[in-house]
Amino acid sequence: MISKLNLKKLKKIKSQFFGTVVIVSKRRSVEEILFYYKNGHRDFGENRVEELITKKELLPADINWHFVGNLQTKKVKKIFNKVHLIHSLDSIKLADQLDKRATYKNIKINCLVQVKIAKEATKSGIRCEMLENFLLHCEKLENINIIGLMGMGTNTNDLKLVSSEFDELNHFFNIFKNKYNLKYLSIGMSNDYKVAIKSGSNMLRIGSLLFE
Ligand SMILES: *Cc1c(COP(=O)(O)O)cnc(C)c1O
Repeated sequence: MISKLNLKKLKKIKSQFFGTVVIVSKRRSVEEILFYYKNGHRDFGENRVEELITKKELLPADINWHFVGNLQTKKVKKIFNKVHLIHSLDSIKLADQLDKRATYKNIKINCLVQVKIAKEATKSGIRCEMLENFLLHCEKLENINIIGLMGMGTNTNDLKLVSSEFDELNHFFNIFKNKYNLKYLSIGMSNDYKVAIKSGSNMLRIGSLLFE
């Protein structure tokens, strides 16, 4: 059961941090989301297209929905005009598809480039060596705005390793932020948000910690 204790955790995180906290609400109920909404929170993240759409229809319209999961190009048409920010832009094909849909509807879609910083094969993302080429490609697409970078650290208790991965991404963020107008560095989840803050995060994506 979600309780006042969860709210206390959220307030504590927000008091240590000047960026945006995205509450990752995947697999959580509409009631659980409403609990945080009623306490003033507006940024929620989902990793499945259908789940986001269902929840969006049932919840207040002023929620900022963040898409944080793997996005298949064939699902772009369902979701491109329903999200505040896509954190998981990780291929040219996906960028082109988003731009095509957005151009057709005459809207702009805000995206973060997901960069592969963990060595794990299960983590997707653009490799650091390819990042500038990718940013250059996206610059030519008029209807998507790249406004930052996203990364996921290795799933481990070795926070030193995660910290070095986040530092690497922060390094690239600093190199490219002025040239490509990047504002957001989306790093940090329940287990590693403290090291992410130290590595320059200004957008945390926190799920389990706030629901247990
Ligand atoms: C689930 C998820 C999160 C939140 O993870 P927790 O460990 O529950 O805080 C953050 N980012 C992405 C991409 C996720 O899929």
